[in-house]
Amino acid sequence: MSFNQRTVTCGELNLSYVGKEVVLNGWVHRNRNHGALHFINIRDRYGITQVVLDEKSDTTLQNTASELKMEYVISVTGIVRKRPDSMINTGMTTGEIEVLANKIDILAKSDILPFMIDDETNANEDLRLKYRFLDLRSFGMQKRIKLRHEFIKSVRHFLYEEGFYEIETPTLIRSTPEGARDYLVPSRKYPGEFYALPQSPQLYKQLLMVSGYDKYFQIARCYRDEDARGDRQPEFTQLDLEMSFVNREDVLSLMEKLFVYVFKETINYSLPAHFRRIDYKTAMNTYGTDKPDLRFDCELVDFKDIIDKSDYETFKKNKYVKAVVAHEGKEQDFTRKYLDSMNEIAVQYNMDYIPYIKVSETGFTGSAAKYFNKLEKEILKCTEAKNGDVIFIIGHTDWKKCCLCAGAVRSKIGKDLKLIKEGFEFCWIVDFPLFSYNEDEGHWEAEHHMFSMPQEQYIDTLESDPGSVKGDLYDLVCNGYECASGSIRIHDVELQKRIFRICNLSDEEAEKKFGFLLNAFKYGAPPHGGIAPGVDRMVMIMSEQTSIKEVIAFPKNSFAVSPMDDCPNTVDEKQLEELHIIIKDKEFK
Ligand code: ASP
Repeated sequence: MSFNQRTVTCGELNLSYVGKEVVLNGWVHRNRNHGALHFINIRDRYGITQVVLDEKSDTTLQNTASELKMEYVISVTGIVRKRPDSMINTGMTTGEIEVLANKIDILAKSDILPFMIDDETNANEDLRLKYRFLDLRSFGMQKRIKLRHEFIKSVRHFLYEEGFYEIETPTLIRSTPEGARDYLVPSRKYPGEFYALPQSPQLYKQLLMVSGYDKYFQIARCYRDEDARGDRQPEFTQLDLEMSFVNREDVLSLMEKLFVYVFKETINYSLPAHFRRIDYKTAMNTYGTDKPDLRFDCELVDFKDIIDKSDYETFKKNKYVKAVVAHEGKEQDFTRKYLDSMNEIAVQYNMDYIPYIKVSETGFTGSAAKYFNKLEKEILKCTEAKNGDVIFIIGHTDWKKCCLCAGAVRSKIGKDLKLIKEGFEFCWIVDFPLFSYNEDEGHWEAEHHMFSMPQEQYIDTLESDPGSVKGDLYDLVCNGYECASGSIRIHDVELQKRIFRICNLSDEEAEKKFGFLLNAFKYGAPPHGGIAPGVDRMVMIMSEQTSIKEVIAFPKNSFAVSPMDDCPNTVDEKQLEELHIIIKDKEFK
């Protein structure tokens, strides 16, 4: 099909083109017809240009213009002219000009749209995903996909300049569980055997270090078969990175330099040269989470001493007690209904309710006020609460649960009282425990993954006191989201085996699953460490979205399904036969 090919894009014309003939190719965004006067907005990924036909335009042209429907693909040839002053649109980059058409060709027609291609559509998610190819035409999506592209481009640029090699690792690998469930791929050639899709390239990047590629990175796709929870996708993208002969400080400062560079290059945002470091325990005690949102204060206050001095007998059983103060403001009235709404958070942490004290000129009121006679001064001092403020009290026998619940109260207050400032607040969380106890399975497991190095001072007491061991682990947090996790790795066979054993993996199992890594460590493994920032997550934060689906071209829905191509789906009997698979429960779907 021959057609007039574009000489300019739909986002580029300005007054300097006035009087010139141009050709535009794009989609009909809007078509308004006022008698002989037609206004056609033509759109491509660069912008929108207004095309006009007036009473002097010939009838064939008028007829073609009347035929145009939304999302038809057209080629327009015309002369650029200045808009009359009253028609200038300062909100559009091309708002000062329009193109008087002398030829319009329809290159493709479009069915009636399932939803409008708007900046931000309010179509429901499944409809957007079913017609993702249309949804991706919206400026909102296009802006985000562009940002994602620029993010990756600047990451690559930065790391190439720093001397990193970009190396691909396989996506058909041996099943080596990293904490989540593997996606499995049956082998046709080897009946009953499977490949797995990588949960991350963790072991391969460590092997690359053994091979001497001391600065590696990859924009890696990772796969985890987890139940739909929060904003998870079965496949997601990481900037996977590893370095040899480094310590924690080297990894952290490289990442700081990288993010300072990338934020400046992509969204022209200046980050500080260094990010705050907060150790895990302090983060939990102060913010009630290991991913604190530092865009607002509202720090937790230790309230155990006060409780012990109070008349609140039933609360004294709680070994840990925290207080969170909501300062009076115009954003939220502290109605009874609002105060009681905190109890919904309590329920999630197996608590009955969250008692509170209201501070007023006449003294304390509220559900717990009566227990704190004579302690008013002390409470006001430690909480810094003022008249009109509310103090929520969170108690638990378990330290982690107490912190997490108080952290959830802090988050709610931050949102409801609109305390969250604009911008990006990064911090490092360091000194995580290396192990956590899995109550359900009755054994210790790795907090991050089993390849992370314990801090040196704990090496002798790994087995005798796993709970107190701190790892050489670090997380990068931004605006309350975990954006990256990493660690200095174990590079010694014996130490690696000890960690496996503590995590309930016998030597035989370890050999079966990770023998290739242990074997590689026998041949000169350098000290190494790395990190893996989530690309989807970072771009989501940078584009001020709350779901990673908004920055992935073709995501799955919350049930791990793609409504567009309806996957997962059944396959032909013949395919199953070739893979030696018999489906037991045919009624399943
Ligand atoms: N492989 C790790 C993960 O995906 C990241 C790392 O330790 O580098 O969480």
